[in-house]
Amino acid sequence: MKNRTLIKQITGIDTADGDGVKLTRIIGSPKLNMLDPFLLLDCFESDQAQDYIGGFPEHPHRGFETVTYLLNGRMRHKDNAGHEGVIESGDVQWMTAGRGILHSEMPEQEDGLLKGFQLWVNLPGVAKMSAPKYQEYSSEVLPIEPLDNGGTVKVIAGVTNHGTVGPVKNNYVSPTYMDINLPKGSDFRQTITKGHNAFIYVLEGSISINNASNNRKQALAAKTLGILSDGEQLCLQSIEQGSRFLLLAGKPLNEPVVRGGPFVMNSESEIRQAFFDYQRGLF
Ligand code: FE
Repeated sequence: MKNRTLIKQITGIDTADGDGVKLTRIIGSPKLNMLDPFLLLDCFESDQAQDYIGGFPEHPHRGFETVTYLLNGRMRHKDNAGHEGVIESGDVQWMTAGRGILHSEMPEQEDGLLKGFQLWVNLPGVAKMSAPKYQEYSSEVLPIEPLDNGGTVKVIAGVTNHGTVGPVKNNYVSPTYMDINLPKGSDFRQTITKGHNAFIYVLEGSISINNASNNRKQALAAKTLGILSDGEQLCLQSIEQGSRFLLLAGKPLNEPVVRGGPFVMNSESEIRQAFFDYQRGLF
């Protein structure tokens, strides 16, 4: 089995979105425009209310999926079709915007730590105008697989080498989304479908992985994204106690991508149509 090695490491860019929410843009920035099918990855993390209290007031989406994985805090989401709820620490909301929704995502707290990720997963042209839908899973129902070395793998999407299956379904890109914790000096192996684009994002501690150019071990520090080469399995080691990282992979769509703010379509004319439909109140 060919190991997936580290092609490139990238750090995010500090920016703000919504009503002044401070965040780090890891994918969807000038450093890394996209990693097909992943269009955007933002990390928000602050215990200062002024950094997040403005939230993300009502805004539209069309043509892709937004995935919120909250690590700490509470966020209330509400859409124009009457869907509303609160996402809490450890919960995941995988929203298929499809042909379009208007929603808001607001902090349900006035102090304390708010930390999480928002990922945008592209939809193929055939599904961009599909009906919106939600896959929502609270932390209690997301499986956590214990590893022999004392680590854990929380599975949002995909299947581990020991057969633990994440609940999120997406037949277009067959995503893998795992949150992995490892004790110091332990190994981690995970099969990843050949041809899928894959990356890891280190949250805490640091890990060691072979570099693609010289096949030597290379450290990947916290708050760093590592793009993986193609291959059949990931094999890495944790350097520090409590090293934690996200593993994401998905089948590339290999379609034209045209962005227009909150819309991601295949062509400029489809973007113009999205703005026209939004202005006419058709979302
Ligand atoms: Fe949104």
